[in-house]
Formats: sequence, C-alpha cells, structure tokens
Amino acid sequence: MASREERQPQLIMGDRRQFLIGAAGFVAWQIAAGERSIAQVNKPPRIILLGTKGGPTLATKTNRTNPATLILINDVPYLIDCGYGVSRQLIKAGVSLDRLRYIFITHHHSDHNLEYGPLLYNAAVASQSIRIDAYGPPGLQKLTNDFFEYERFDIETRLVDEGGQDPRKAIAVHEFEKAGIVMKNDDVKVTSCRVRHPPITQSYAYRFDAKGRSIVISGDTSYAPELADFAKGADVLVHEVMYLPAIEKLIKQNSGATRLREHLLASHTSTEDVGRIAAQAGVKILVLTHFVPGDDPTITDEQWSEGVRKNFKGRVIVGKDLMEI
Ligand SMILES: [Zn+2]
Ligand SMILES: [Zn+2]
Repeated sequence: MASREERQPQLIMGDRRQFLIGAAGFVAWQIAAGERSIAQVNKPPRIILLGTKGGPTLATKTNRTNPATLILINDVPYLIDCGYGVSRQLIKAGVSLDRLRYIFITHHHSDHNLEYGPLLYNAAVASQSIRIDAYGPPGLQKLTNDFFEYERFDIETRLVDEGGQDPRKAIAVHEFEKAGIVMKNDDVKVTSCRVRHPPITQSYAYRFDAKGRSIVISGDTSYAPELADFAKGADVLVHEVMYLPAIEKLIKQNSGATRLREHLLASHTSTEDVGRIAAQAGVKILVLTHFVPGDDPTITDEQWSEGVRKNFKGRVIVGKDLMEI
C-alpha cells in the first residue's frame, strides 16, 4: 500500500518558482533569488500523471494505473491517452468529467485507448453541453464509431426514455497521419512527432507550447534521436521508461517469453537511453512514466533513475500516479 501522501496529488515546485495565492484571489508567481514578483493572469500549466504503468495488464502489486497524462492549461484539461481507469483518475485529480475538453491519443495500443470510449460516454452524461475534440492517428474515428455502436442500445433507449443530448454528437474526431501541428488555440500550440514503436508505425509524441511552459509527452517509443530534436528546449519531458535488469528477470521466470523480450527491447527505451534523449534535448525536468515493467514493487526509485543520471544532469522525477509537476 502506498502511504497517504503518495495517493494525494503532490505539488513539485520548480527550483526557482513558488506559486502563491494572492489576497485578491489571483495567482501570482514569484521568482526567487532577488528577482521581482510578477503577477500573472494566466496560471502556469500543470502536469498531473494519471496513470504510470506501461502495458495492458492491470497492476496488482503496485498502485500504478494504466497510461494517461493530464496537462491543465488555464484550468482547461488536455488529456493524453486513455488507459483503463482514466475516468476515475481524472476525478481523483480533481477534474470533474463535465470539464473534459481535449483528448490526444499517442497510438492504438490498448493500454493507451482502452477507456477512450467509456470516458467519452462518462463525460457526455456528466454535462449536456459538453464538446470534446479528440486527436490521434488513423483508427480513432473507427474506435469512436465502434464504441458508440457497442453502446447503441443504451444510447438510443435513453434518448427516447430520458431525453437529453446524444453523446455521439458531443465528440469531434480529428485524425492525422503525419507529424506537424495538431491543434492551436489562444492558450497552446500542440505539435506531434512520429516516434519508433514497432510494429505500430502511427505512434506519436506530443509537444504542448503554452505561455510559461513547454511540455513534451513521448508516447511509447524506443530510442528516437528525432524525439530529442522535437523536445529541444522544452521545460519538461515526460518520457516512457524500461528497466532492463527487471525485464531479464521477468524473461527468466517465463521461459516462453523471448518474443515478449524482443518486442520490449525494440519498442521501448532503456533508462540510459531516456537520459540520452533528455540530455540531447536540453530539457530542465525529466519525468519518468509508463514504467516497464510497471508492476514490480521491488524496483526502487533509485534503480529507475540511476541509468538515466549517467547521461542526464538535469532534474529527474520518478513518476507516481496523481503526482503533480
Ligand atoms: Zn504502452
Ligand atoms: Zn504501445
């Protein structure tokens, strides 16, 4: 069991920033070390790790939920991936589902999209006026249609019996199959980079350039130098990670798992290589997530980060569910 503190969202302060609630109710951020305070109308973007366990199985030995990451920009949620449990994790993070607005899917492995449809449904029944834009690689429209087909009986029964909004009309799907600008509004520009996750070719990282903070989410990828270019100068890189000694242990215990080993090595990034990417990109903070293996409580935070630190001298955060950065 995690301690009570671990289950609560944690605020990780930047080294130089301290967030203050002013008497007038606005948020100010103060730059320490002799610099002057600057009052800001916009709140700095927040990152909350909703689910940090890589792979489709559900954790039984750790408290990690399947992958999902939340960025709040001016209090508007931008959700990256919808692993199983994401609806509950959003609520635990303090984001009621009627606030859902933007969803980004990195690729169509089930640990990243299994609760996509149910989340749309949960949000649509939470608010009659909700509008959700979902972005992702080809297959997203079909996934959406197929989910609503799966729940057609319920949806059509309730529309006749109870009235209200048709959840199928609350969602707009935007597919893309090339790297580039994904969306842009007054608060943020979102771009994508194709990453390496064989055998899936349509697998993407996302970059969020917002006022006050640039954040890159790696998605699932093996070592990809192009991701370092894409993340150049970002404040925060949230990157997947694989711990090789534990993979070897796992393979030894399951003699038939050589194919799984090949898949993992070809499609995920070792701790050392995550450090390499973060160093090449020159990011300030590296956040580890999508832990592979993600349900081995014997791997310590130190073990997750020691390989990373060989190559990256910046700040390394070993992610936990509901941790805020
Ligand atoms: Zn994954
Ligand atoms: Zn994957």
